[in-house]
Amino acid sequence: DAAGPTVVIGEILVEIMATTRGPGFPEPMPLVGPFPSGAPAIFADQCARMGGTAGLVAAVGDDDFGRLCLRRLAADGVDVSAVRAWPDAPTGTAFVRYRDDGSRDFVFNIARSAAALVSLDEPARRLIARAGHLHVMGSAFAIPGLRPLLDHALDAVRDRGGSVSLDPNLRKELAGDGEARARLDRVIDRADLLLPSGEELLVAAGAGDEDAALAALFARGVGEVALKRGREGATWFGSDGSRHDAPAFDVPEVDPTGAGDCFGGAFVAVRRLGLIPERALLYASAAGARNVTVLGPMGGAGTRAELDAFIAATPRRG
Ligand code: ATP
Ligand code: MG
Repeated sequence: DAAGPTVVIGEILVEIMATTRGPGFPEPMPLVGPFPSGAPAIFADQCARMGGTAGLVAAVGDDDFGRLCLRRLAADGVDVSAVRAWPDAPTGTAFVRYRDDGSRDFVFNIARSAAALVSLDEPARRLIARAGHLHVMGSAFAIPGLRPLLDHALDAVRDRGGSVSLDPNLRKELAGDGEARARLDRVIDRADLLLPSGEELLVAAGAGDEDAALAALFARGVGEVALKRGREGATWFGSDGSRHDAPAFDVPEVDPTGAGDCFGGAFVAVRRLGLIPERALLYASAAGARNVTVLGPMGGAGTRAELDAFIAATPRRG
């Protein structure tokens, strides 16, 4: 692990939520927001709040949505020097409505928003040149403009002895696409840590069951895997065969969006600060659980003190 911030490349969005449950947006309805969002932004925010240093390479519009996100990220200590504000493209948006069964319907404006205009400009080069760790979000492969940036960052961080983590939060359909698959494999071959959720472990490894997937990933040089299982908790696996299980905290689920990103941001922050995997897994589980109790995708991202208090006060499931 080299010195320098944890850098994340990807989208910043605002999220606007329906206050009622049901299918999609077929007619006018009450909404709440905008909330700062975007998986890379949530990850970086939680990482910084946890006491890690974090920086984002991203783009917003020169509008109130963008300013709202930047103000929040900067207040929480995220380095936003490589976040560009475009004068003539809007900040990305996601409108979300939960159905009764907990599934979600979205209306996105990402591909044609400022979020898609991220490029390897001077501020991005400077931040990446200082990075000690690169965290890659699989969702970033969906934005073609990000690909050269990811390639550059992977090589730059590796060359200076930095570490790499990957949240392969990609849809199955995307992993089937040859180009996305090749990109994913390129990151896996350079990754120290994988943070898959559920089935993503099997998709990332191209394996049929958990044991085979872990064996395949460790054989490729991955050092550790932190597997997220939502309300079922999380498990950490080391390449030496060691394993730790963390039952989920028993909390009311107000807004599950962002749990996985908070889990990852907290895990990477404290691992890089030198905590052992078991402790990092505990903080990560607490970060994910605390975040689902608050409205907004990063609404419940906690500081280390807040997570210590949460851990002491909250019963575990199972
Ligand atoms: P996201 O929806 O952000 O993509 P994810 O699928 O990547 O999430 P999850 O498994 O949903 O990740 O959440 C990450 C971790 O957060 C879980 O492993 C668990 O520790 C905690 N967590 C998530 N949801 C809950 C919940 N309802 N109750 C308690 N803990 C939770
Ligand atoms: Mg996820």
